[in-house]
Amino acid sequence: MNEKKHYLFSYGTLQLEKVQIENYGRLLIGQKDTLFGYKLDKLKITDIEVLKISDKEFHPIAVKTYSPNDVVEGTIFEITEEELIETDKYEVSDYKRVLETFASGKKAWVYVAKLDKSFSTIANNIKQVHNRINNACLKSGRNKNEIKLLLATKTVGCDRIKEAFVSGETLIAENKVQEIKQKFDCLQEFNHEQHFIGHLQTNKVKEILKYNINCIQSLDRMSLAEKLHNQLRLENRTIDIFIQVNTSNEESKFGIAPEEAVNFTKQVAKFNTLKIKGLMTIGLFSSDGDKVRQCFKRLKSIQKEIIAAQIPNVEMKELSMGMSGDLEIAIEEGATIIRIGTAIFGERQYPDSYYWNENRTID
Ligand SMILES: *Cc1c(COP(=O)(O)O)cnc(C)c1O
Repeated sequence: MNEKKHYLFSYGTLQLEKVQIENYGRLLIGQKDTLFGYKLDKLKITDIEVLKISDKEFHPIAVKTYSPNDVVEGTIFEITEEELIETDKYEVSDYKRVLETFASGKKAWVYVAKLDKSFSTIANNIKQVHNRINNACLKSGRNKNEIKLLLATKTVGCDRIKEAFVSGETLIAENKVQEIKQKFDCLQEFNHEQHFIGHLQTNKVKEILKYNINCIQSLDRMSLAEKLHNQLRLENRTIDIFIQVNTSNEESKFGIAPEEAVNFTKQVAKFNTLKIKGLMTIGLFSSDGDKVRQCFKRLKSIQKEIIAAQIPNVEMKELSMGMSGDLEIAIEEGATIIRIGTAIFGERQYPDSYYWNENRTID
């Protein structure tokens, strides 16, 4: 029989032999594993049927926090498709089943809280992120005033961005000129600063400069520097610039190669309309914190090299690195700006590849 297998992670009663027998009529075989970015809450069970089987009034429920410091321990079991369908009936309506990647690298289904519960509002999420910033600062002996929180607002509508402004945030960034344009009018009532963190096509340079962008964090090639300079000179103005470095060496990401960064900075510094203020990078996507940390260390060491080179027209105070999943590591390694989307606004509908490597044509 060609029965499809599924992996299912349990952090609760499904680990009890009694519950396995009740549900599947057999004992399950499993391996211990760990889920990052969630923490356990208690859910009061009212479903009589479920109560009868497990005898427990409170069930643990995993709530997504996005913090790598929050972990849930449990067991990944191998079950059949039929058994998975059975399990869906057993889990009560406060849960939803999602596919997650675990510490072992295995992908498995897991039942988690439908809502991000205690983290449901944007204001709460922002508070949570500030707590994470404070904790990371405490751990690394830094002053929290050294770190700016930038909200990555791609795909987020005006109303929700305004909620963040009401909570006291003032720094946002977009990845696409089109989205800046769409949201421009409705955000005007709030004082704020806007950066650009996406891949900027040279044919969009003229357009983006219409929208009061304070800083372009994603300068990643000479043709873009030239185009920006020419347009800014016509308009008789300057703009702040970060140089984007591809510290993870991934084909799929934009940015200057680390070994070319110093030289590139020297070249860009010749354009007097471009005020170089620092560096930006996107860390490696990995659950291996050490590998992510190497990316941030690399950016810090490039910053030092550039400072040592004493290039005229270059300031190197800012390091923009760290996102929802790795902000703690980034702060420990010297970030001055962290860019947070998901941990504040929730999951996005589009994969990040849609924003980060479009079709990889360099105009
Ligand atoms: C979307 C985005 C972020 C934020 O990522 P999250 O993981 O959602 O916090 C940061 N930097 C860049 C360049 C982005 O495109």
